[in-house]
Amino acid sequence: MTEPKRITHFINGAYWSQPAQRTGDVYNPALGQVTGKVDFATVELVDQAVEIASKAQQEWRNASLAKRTQVLFAFREILNSRKEEIAKLITAEHGKVLSDALGEVTRGLEVVEFACGIPHLLKGSYSEGASTSIDVYSIRQPLGVCAIISPFNFPAMVPMWFFPIAIAAGNSVIIKPSEKDPSAINLIAEFWKAAGLPDGVFNVIHGDKVAVDRLLEHPGISSISFVGSTPIAKYIYENGTKNGKRVQALGGAKNHMLVLPDADLDLAADAAVNAGFGSAGERCMAISALVAVEPIADALIEKIAQRMSGLKTGDGTAGSDMGPLVTAVHRDKVASYVDAGVREGAKLVVDGRNPQVNGAAEGFWLGPTLFDQVTPEMSIYQEEIFGPVLSVIRVNSYEEGLELINRHQYGNGTAIFTNDGGAARKFQNEVLVGMVGINVPIPVPTAYYSFGGWKNSLFGDTHAHGTEGVHFFTRGKVVTSRWLDPSHGGINLGFPQNR
Ligand code: NAD
Repeated sequence: MTEPKRITHFINGAYWSQPAQRTGDVYNPALGQVTGKVDFATVELVDQAVEIASKAQQEWRNASLAKRTQVLFAFREILNSRKEEIAKLITAEHGKVLSDALGEVTRGLEVVEFACGIPHLLKGSYSEGASTSIDVYSIRQPLGVCAIISPFNFPAMVPMWFFPIAIAAGNSVIIKPSEKDPSAINLIAEFWKAAGLPDGVFNVIHGDKVAVDRLLEHPGISSISFVGSTPIAKYIYENGTKNGKRVQALGGAKNHMLVLPDADLDLAADAAVNAGFGSAGERCMAISALVAVEPIADALIEKIAQRMSGLKTGDGTAGSDMGPLVTAVHRDKVASYVDAGVREGAKLVVDGRNPQVNGAAEGFWLGPTLFDQVTPEMSIYQEEIFGPVLSVIRVNSYEEGLELINRHQYGNGTAIFTNDGGAARKFQNEVLVGMVGINVPIPVPTAYYSFGGWKNSLFGDTHAHGTEGVHFFTRGKVVTSRWLDPSHGGINLGFPQNR
């Protein structure tokens, strides 16, 4: 066995040389082995990073839009030409299959491309002669130092929902990635340096709660963009806003797929399997609850089970459909939900415990699992499982299905499968969920729209990327201007009125 590699902070354009007081283990989940040791930041290190990022931002905010877009275009080219390297790092530490890892980098790349248009996105408006000889115009300015705290399941894409726009808008960034798969973001930091971004504008600090808590309270941090589980998202939102920061905190999910009786059941079965088990169900937009409107449930379940029997679970580099779960602890937690489902009376149609795999025996495996006869009060329905477990809930009408979805605590994504345009249109209007797919199971919005859920899936007012992202990473200023004219003289203590 080779020695675990050291994974350390990237601050001010260079890797941190000093040794860490605390480190965390990083696994290759397909091997079940520790392959890296990631340094954990102390409060003092966070303070140093904020000071550096703050200094760098003072200059970067004055870089012309032409200069900023030059750097962004260069970054885009490097990222595009070296995306396979990022994907390999993701597969090695997260476990998702290589094509899936590449897909996530490509989706992140789209946000970089969107941010390349920052000169257009930052344009304000101008009203000549709003009052006599007075012009009014609006501008948008950067916030300062923006913190990003990201989850394990998309180590490249989720950070890229935020940092391209933050940097393009003239901010500097400190990112605290998940300690479970920290390598991809370090390579991205190297790409920024190669693209000509000034040192200190993009910084990576690794760590855990100690680093996050310091970011939440540090007066030099202007904003927090968080993505992770709902309890932590709530904590981040409450503490970040208490300390005067702008916060967007995206949380967990339970995404429903409503299948109406007129749907094409083969397409619906394909979609349920792809969206339920892709990335081993470790996606915030995974379908985990399939709501079948009778009388189609039996036929649909049969088609899904048949497709599941062909899925290959194994090492993400070896041509499998689905990789391992991220850690042994997480695998055991997901497996305990399968136990709970059986205990609570759901019908286990396909059991993923003890799967046949193409990989090392020590890997963190769990095969695709399918439950039928799931009812709304069961824990496997109420809670986010975040693994390859699909639950079928049978209902008797569209209305019953809609009510179920709208009652759930989460409102991240949802999908309807039907051939009835009127029903689909009614659903998009009535469903209390932030992202809706119509015959599209994973409706992740493209970069120029904004990503975000409702209810317990997002705390804050602003969704990620698109124009909402530009608004989040800038603040508005309105200027009212008059150039000297002798007729402006005279005393008048009244409130200014437009004349
Ligand atoms: P997590 O909440 O455990 O961790 C997210 C981040 O918070 C990590 O950087 C972690 O180091 C940090 N963190 C963990 N515990 C903390 C604590 N007590 N105090 C301060 N910081 C803490 O989430 P995860 O397991 O890495 O990711 C999976 C979760 O993320 C799922 O719930 C999933 O639905 C959610 N997610 C949501 C979206 C979305 O867009 N809504 C996208 C991706 C993932």
